[in-house]
Amino acid sequence: MGLNHFITTSDGEFFDHPKPMKRVSKKRKLLAKKFSKTTKRGNNRNKARIRLARIDETVTNIRNDYGWKLCKTLIQKYETIYIENLNVRGMVKNHCLAGAITDVSWSDFTNKLSYKAESAGGKVVKVNPKNTSQKCSSCGNIVKKTLAIRTHNCPHCGLKIDRDINASINILTIGKIGLEQSKLTPERDEASTDGISPKQALSMKQEAITSTPKVLGYE
Ligand SMILES: [Zn+2]
Repeated sequence: MGLNHFITTSDGEFFDHPKPMKRVSKKRKLLAKKFSKTTKRGNNRNKARIRLARIDETVTNIRNDYGWKLCKTLIQKYETIYIENLNVRGMVKNHCLAGAITDVSWSDFTNKLSYKAESAGGKVVKVNPKNTSQKCSSCGNIVKKTLAIRTHNCPHCGLKIDRDINASINILTIGKIGLEQSKLTPERDEASTDGISPKQALSMKQEAITSTPKVLGYE
């Protein structure tokens, strides 16, 4: 996921976001100003409020529409999708990028993607993106570059590709290794009580909390 392109795949495909907020931000600012100048009980206040709400609705609709369509495209193409884990990225903390990131709303998109992939029998695997943009996807050396440098140009092996494609290949590699390792490590048998299987233990636990049905669905 990037600011230049919404999504870049390891196959070298770019998907660009419509950035609806950017498109309407001028109009929205004007309306918000108008709204703030209206009197509390005036008729104009209600009109301005409705117009503001309509703009916000349009933005949400464009985002959602684009998001679902992109999910469909990706899921039709790939069974397992490796994606960077945004929680550990910490980019939103950077104030210059915060606005842009909020507009492209990656976290909303990754939620959509996980949901759609699962219902189609596939899966989305989140990968720690540490060093994925700096590391060379061909030789593994670290090639330092600022956000402004768009091309990964490796002085060690000569690889020259788009920085986002390079990062995507790294994410795929890390994700695949992680998945292989989790296959090799057998699931721990957590039954500690005599003669009770983990499944039985779970159902016992569920029985104990039937009074709170909300929790039950997520156990
Ligand atoms: Zn290299």
